Amino acid sequence: MLSTDQRFISILLCPACKAAGLRAEQESLACGKCRAVFPVKNGVPFLIHKELLQQYEQYNKEIESPVNKLKTLIKKMPWLFQFLTYAIGSISYFGWSPKKALKKIYKEGELKNKIIINIGSGIKAIHREVINLDIFPFENVGLVTDATKLPIQDNSVDMVITESTLEHIPDAELAIREICRVVKPGGYVYISIPFLMPFHASPNDYVRLTNEGIKHKFAIFEPQRIGMNGGPASALISLLMHFLALPFSIISTSLYNFMTYIFMAILSPLRVFDLVFYLFPRSTDAAAMTYFIGKKKE
Ligand SMILES: [Zn+2]
Repeated sequence: MLSTDQRFISILLCPACKAAGLRAEQESLACGKCRAVFPVKNGVPFLIHKELLQQYEQYNKEIESPVNKLKTLIKKMPWLFQFLTYAIGSISYFGWSPKKALKKIYKEGELKNKIIINIGSGIKAIHREVINLDIFPFENVGLVTDATKLPIQDNSVDMVITESTLEHIPDAELAIREICRVVKPGGYVYISIPFLMPFHASPNDYVRLTNEGIKHKFAIFEPQRIGMNGGPASALISLLMHFLALPFSIISTSLYNFMTYIFMAILSPLRVFDLVFYLFPRSTDAAAMTYFIGKKKE
């Protein structure tokens, strides 16, 4: 589904006054109640509150750091970004991906009638029927909005996916509450978040959760599957690449950042150990990243 599909627009709320019934006009969405107008640029609605525009300035400053500049550049080339993540990344991703979860939950033909959103998608396109939401208008993003103030009606979405995003939201609690609010009873969530992973700014980093932590935060969802998306080997690589790069930080922060990537590339083959660790249930105790698939209680 596209974000400009009438079925999706009909569940949206005005970010300013929370009224339902946004009207699609030429290159904008208009609120019939408070008359606020929100731009639609190249088919992408920007449903953000005025306050957020100030936050944008702060984000833009953070994005100016060399590492984030490089990340932004790489993110303009989705294929390269995906390749680098899988080829020389620190995380093994042997657990269920959102793509696999979608396949297990829905039949292919069902997907076009479902409203499925990926919050904090970045450039990643999981499936053409999934609507990507992000605070930045990256490539493949269908709706620019704030995860802590979703302009979406209660109980209106079939599935929410959010991968490695909650840790980057200053107030993750608010985003979690929003996710719980918008999913229909009987609908699903796929949540992934780091557990044992060093600080990684994108553009900033605030929080970690254990398996039990996610279960608790999403208690209104019946757990369907809980697992790890990067095992103890991934956690070790992530820590070691910082450990080894740390001495370089005395000379320069840029060199330190650069060296973490060099050590990540060198250490990345160790991820193969995670394949074995998947056989041991207790390996989640030291997982780099944890995920949760839940079904909202009726
Ligand atoms: Zn309004």
